[in-house]
Amino acid sequence: MTLTVVNNATCTFCGCVCDDIELHADETRILKAKKACVLGTAWFLNHTVERKYPDALIDGKEATLDEAIEAAATHLHAADMPLVYGMSNTTCEAQRECVALADLLGGLLDSHTSL
Ligand code: SF4
Repeated sequence: MTLTVVNNATCTFCGCVCDDIELHADETRILKAKKACVLGTAWFLNHTVERKYPDALIDGKEATLDEAIEAAATHLHAADMPLVYGMSNTTCEAQRECVALADLLGGLLDSHTSL
């Protein structure tokens, strides 16, 4: 097993964008993320090269993207107080769409950093 150490790696999980992370990796995955917080550590350590999940799930079962969008729209339309949540590791353009969606729904908006 070859161990690679990357100094001053940048974590893009949240808006802080810490750029002093020390990563230790073997050939397939990151094993350690020194100086990263608990969120950054989880983000780095769960990155893998293989494709592990389908494009969409409905009730835990694989679905097409169109089916998932339809199901999401149905749930959001029926919700009394929809929450648009997450947006970590998300582009500014996608975050803008999330804000517009929360506004359209009359719902709430929150990022993962409230954890
Ligand atoms: S998730 Fe943690 S390590 Fe990553 S940028 Fe944010 S504060 Fe830094």
